[in-house]
Amino acid sequence: MRPSILFPLFADINTLKGVGPKIRAHYQRLLDGTKIIDLIYHIPFSVVDRTYMPPLYQTQNNVVITAKLKVDLHIPPKQKSKNTPYRVICSNETGSLTLVFFNNFIDYLKDTLKVGNQIAVSGRAETFGGMLQMPHPDYILPQNRFSEILKIEPIYNLTKGLSQKIVARTIKDAVKQIPALPEWIDAEMLKEYDWLDYKQSMIALHNPKDVSVIGINSKIMQRLAYDEILAHQLALKLNRSTIESAKGNAVKGDASLTGLLEKILPFSLTAGQIKVIKEIKHDQALTGKMARLLQGDVGSGKTIVALFAALNAIEAGFAVALMVPTEILAQQHFNSISALLNKEPNLAAKVNISVLYSAMRAKEKQNLLADLAAGKVNLVVGTHALIENNVDFKNLGLVIIDEQHRFGVKQRNLLASKGNNTDILLMSATPIPRSLTMALYGDMDLSVLDEKPVGRMPIKTSVVPKNKIDAVVAGMGRVLSNNEQIYWICPLVTESDTLDLAAATSRFTEFKARFGDQVGLVHGRMKQQEKEQMMLDFKAGNIKILIATTVIEVGVDVANATTIIIEHAERFGLAQLHQLRGRVGRGSKQSSCVLIYHALNDNAKQRLNVIRDSEDGFALAEADLKIRGGGDIIGEKQSGIPNFKIANLYEHKDLFIKARQDAAEFLKLDPYFTSGRGENLRLLMHMFEYEFKYGY
Ligand code: ADP
Ligand code: MG
Repeated sequence: MRPSILFPLFADINTLKGVGPKIRAHYQRLLDGTKIIDLIYHIPFSVVDRTYMPPLYQTQNNVVITAKLKVDLHIPPKQKSKNTPYRVICSNETGSLTLVFFNNFIDYLKDTLKVGNQIAVSGRAETFGGMLQMPHPDYILPQNRFSEILKIEPIYNLTKGLSQKIVARTIKDAVKQIPALPEWIDAEMLKEYDWLDYKQSMIALHNPKDVSVIGINSKIMQRLAYDEILAHQLALKLNRSTIESAKGNAVKGDASLTGLLEKILPFSLTAGQIKVIKEIKHDQALTGKMARLLQGDVGSGKTIVALFAALNAIEAGFAVALMVPTEILAQQHFNSISALLNKEPNLAAKVNISVLYSAMRAKEKQNLLADLAAGKVNLVVGTHALIENNVDFKNLGLVIIDEQHRFGVKQRNLLASKGNNTDILLMSATPIPRSLTMALYGDMDLSVLDEKPVGRMPIKTSVVPKNKIDAVVAGMGRVLSNNEQIYWICPLVTESDTLDLAAATSRFTEFKARFGDQVGLVHGRMKQQEKEQMMLDFKAGNIKILIATTVIEVGVDVANATTIIIEHAERFGLAQLHQLRGRVGRGSKQSSCVLIYHALNDNAKQRLNVIRDSEDGFALAEADLKIRGGGDIIGEKQSGIPNFKIANLYEHKDLFIKARQDAAEFLKLDPYFTSGRGENLRLLMHMFEYEFKYGY
């Protein structure tokens, strides 16, 4: 239960002055949530210094200034046209400044701007034809209210319907709601780092005394980051000790099924796969609960490892659930695993596999649920539908979560809770730099697949400007004449937006005219069945060119596809590009990846060069950390790593290390949070909504 002292932080923002339903809806778009706490973590990305009051005659172009002025003259536009502004000439003893208004905005200022009035303005000044002007000042006030022009203003990200002034004011109100909280950071550390307390830090952040305050490594930001990191490290440690003390099932297979599987595999396992399969099997056999993360780059062959673990559990009489993030992927795993099992009648007889997803026909679903509950189906592949309430298992002995970063901790635990301290195997292709693995997955055991199956050739990656697109399209003919297949990835306009679809559809029409019926289109708005059919057609080779939005991104496996072309590549993050590129190079043929860009800023250029020059997911992750400070591969929604509000994996690496130590030492002394600091840390945990045991 949430301690009452934190209630003000979790009050809805509609309790703040001026936040009615309409404004609240705007904030809902802007923030992670609609609580006061969501608002105070909306941190300024810049500041405007309004203390600068240079003599007008020496004011530079394009700087924000504040000035006291007298209104001299109004110059209305000659004809009523949008392009000629309304001008108000003002001056003081240091020169003159013309206020410039478009769209008759002036009506609204008639009183303030009477000729002869003494006024104060602040805004961005421009030199224009030798004159100093200020289009649409941020502030225009009578001079006796000069002090209302803030000295230094925080600047926030906005959304439609919210202005800088509204957001700044609402956040200031929100910050006032922060209760006085007792200090959870160790007193010595607080002193050593010279940090302010929580509330003071938040106040300082939203009333920055200069731009340095909002720098990622300012004292203020460090303190607030440390709070987040410490809470996370404590949660990890608590989770770990829950895992260690859990009494689960000793799952000991007799190799009757895995032995058969080994015989019918069309390839031999890599040394890495053999090692990892062994690690997992070892964990399964223990009475405790397994919590293992299998990390392997795209195409490293995690699925087969999962199947070995599944058969091991089935041999021992348990049922197994494999959860994946998309229905396409569920279908793919179901098909490829079924095909493999069907090669050997004794396997097919013992392993009863099914697939479960939300859009299934009700009748079919009902039957499947009954079979699961009765233990008739012992291997189920499914989407989020698996965690629904009505899904029961007879004797669930293993939960495998593929592309685990697509699921939250709660969802993963929900699935596992359908058994008795069920073993969990998480699989991830999100490469986390080794230096950070412990900080992020400290509660898990780790298996790493660090080699790809033999015979894979490196993917040729090229970075190409948009005006060369015709040459790229011409090159597609060659790929097709080799009887190989192509993915064409359409630009990410905005996530799951109609615009994404529009871009894809127009490409489709164009290519269909050129290449005929061998062109297919798959996007997120299609019905499940249509999507699946399209993927099956592509896999079967009926479709040679697959135009896709990013629904294709994770896990899809078509070995004959050797070329992937990504439009507007600069709009994708490194992780996504790496995942997308991982769709090719999955067989023994030479594959290529073409990254088409439209406009490049430095950051995007760096990103595309990095991806061109490396195929190693771990190296890419390190590079990404450096370029973006952990934004993309790590840290954002994509990764499943806690969505830190301020903490940054790269910039705050030292704080992560420090917090790990801090958490370990604290829990050794006070595992039940009963000391003074313990009580305070408990508040911290509740603040970031970590649920944990030990009587909370
Ligand atoms: P990922 O780790 O990205 O999930 P998959 O499990 O989809 O990769 O495997 C990629 C492809 O490599 C699949 O077609 C799979 O059958 C194949 N594969 C897996 N292991 C081996 C191996 N040891 N030798 C050859 N091919 C393999
Ligand atoms: Mg996979």
